[in-house]
Amino acid sequence: MNNPNPKELWSQAVTLLRQEIGDEPADLWLKPVEVLRFENQVLQLKVPNKFFSSWIREHYQKRLSTIFKDLSGHDINLDYEVSKDLRTVLAPADPIAEPGSQSDFPLSELNPRYTFNSFVVGDSNRFAHATAEAVSKSPGTQYNPYFIYGDVGLGKTHLLHGIGNSMRKEHPRARVLYTTAEHFVNEFINSIHQNKTEEFRAKYRNLDCLLIDDIQFLIARDRSEQEFFHTFNSLFNAHKQVVISSDRSPKDMSPTEQRLISRFEWGVVADIKPPDLETRIAILRKKAETEGFYVPDDVIVFVASSVKTNIRALEGSLIRLKAFSSMTGSPLTVDDAREILKDSITSESSPVRLETIQQVVAYKYSVDVKDLKGQTRTASVAMPRQLAMYLACVMTDLSLKEIGRAFGGRDHTTVLHAREKVKRRVESDPFFVELVNKLQADIQSVDKQ
Ligand code: ADP
Ligand code: MG
Repeated sequence: MNNPNPKELWSQAVTLLRQEIGDEPADLWLKPVEVLRFENQVLQLKVPNKFFSSWIREHYQKRLSTIFKDLSGHDINLDYEVSKDLRTVLAPADPIAEPGSQSDFPLSELNPRYTFNSFVVGDSNRFAHATAEAVSKSPGTQYNPYFIYGDVGLGKTHLLHGIGNSMRKEHPRARVLYTTAEHFVNEFINSIHQNKTEEFRAKYRNLDCLLIDDIQFLIARDRSEQEFFHTFNSLFNAHKQVVISSDRSPKDMSPTEQRLISRFEWGVVADIKPPDLETRIAILRKKAETEGFYVPDDVIVFVASSVKTNIRALEGSLIRLKAFSSMTGSPLTVDDAREILKDSITSESSPVRLETIQQVVAYKYSVDVKDLKGQTRTASVAMPRQLAMYLACVMTDLSLKEIGRAFGGRDHTTVLHAREKVKRRVESDPFFVELVNKLQADIQSVDKQ
C-alpha cells in the first residue's frame, strides 16, 4: 500500500482506537480532526487548536502509530496544523495581546479585599490556606487541579480570589479568570444562542489560571458539564492551573460525567470546616481592627460564641453592631449586642423541646431530671435548675407560666428571677457564655435526631 487514501486510513484508525478508548474521548479529541494530506509517510492533520495536538500526542500517538503500521504496513508519522480560522478567533480574546480590546467576554474582576493577608488562619482552614498559597506560587504543577470544598460562608470564594490576586501580583501578565459555575453556564448557553461558542471556548481554554466557584451548580447539567469537562481537559493538558470550589466533596457529587469528578482528585483536595471559637474571635478582632471599630473583648467573645457556623454571618453581626454604635456613640455592651443580634442568633437555632433541655442540663450537672422539678435548694441542684429555666426561656416559645409548671409547678416569678440571674452571669462572664452555648448546641443536636 504505497499510496493509501489518507482520509480512509485516518477513519479506519479512529474506528479501531475508538473501540479501545470509548466513544466519548473519540468524539471529543479525534472527531474534530481533519485530514489534510499524506506526503512522505507523514499524515498531515488539522486540529482546532494546539491543545488538541498536544492531547493527541500525549495520549493517543503511540497507539495510533501501531494501528497505522498494522493497517498500512508502514511507519506513518503524524503532523498537526492548527486550524487558521480558529486562530483568528483566538487572538482578540487574548487580553495580553490586546489589553484594550472590547471583548464580548472580558476577564472578570478580582475582589482586592480578598487576599491571603486578610484571611485569618485557624485549624479549620489551615490546610486549605496553605495549599492555596502554594498554588499561587507554582501554578499548574503538583497542586493542579486544586479543589476546595466546605459549607457556605466559610471562605472558599475568599481563597479563590486570594489565589488570583496573588498570581496577578507575581505574574502581572498571567491570564487569570475568576468566574462562578453559574456564570459559566449562562455564558455558555448564551454563546450557543449567539453562535459564539468558538469565542467562548477561546476565552476559557486560553487561560493561565481558571478559578471557578461553586462548581456544584453545573454538575449534572448535561451540556454545560460536558463543556466544562472539555475546558478542564484543555487547560489541564496545557499545564494551566484550575482551581475549583464546591459546597461538597467530589465524592458527594452526582455528575453525568463521572470522569470529571475523578479528575478533581488528581491534584489537591482541601476542605474548610466551620471555625472554632478561637478563630472566630481572631476573625472578629481582625475585621473590627480593619474597620477602625473598637469592640470590647466581652462583646467579641459574646458574638463569636453566638454566631458559630458561618463567617459571613459573623461579619454581618459586626456591621450591625457598628451601625448601632455609630448611632449611639456609646461603647457597646454585651446586652446591646444580644438585643441587636437577636434575630440572627435565634435564626441559627430552631425551637426545642423543654424535656430535652431538662435532660441535657441534668446530664451535664449529674443530677436527676426529677431533682430539677423537685424542691431541693442546695446549690448543686438550684444552679442547674435556674440554668435550665433560662434555656427554656431563650430556646422555646413557652410562656413563663408554662415553664414554671414544667419545673414542678413553680410560679412564673420564680422563672423570671432565674432568667434574670443567669442572664446577668452570661453578660459578665465570657466563659460562662461559652458553656451556655455548648449546652445549647447539645440540646439542638439531640432534638434534631
Ligand atoms: P464561601 O465562598 O465559602 O461561601 P466566602 O469566601 O464568601 O465564603 O466568605 C464569607 C465572608 O467571610 C467573606 O467576606 C470572607 O472575606 C470572610 N471570611 C471567610 N473566611 C475568612 C477567614 N478565614 N478570615 C477572614 N475572613 C474570612
Ligand atoms: Mg462563595
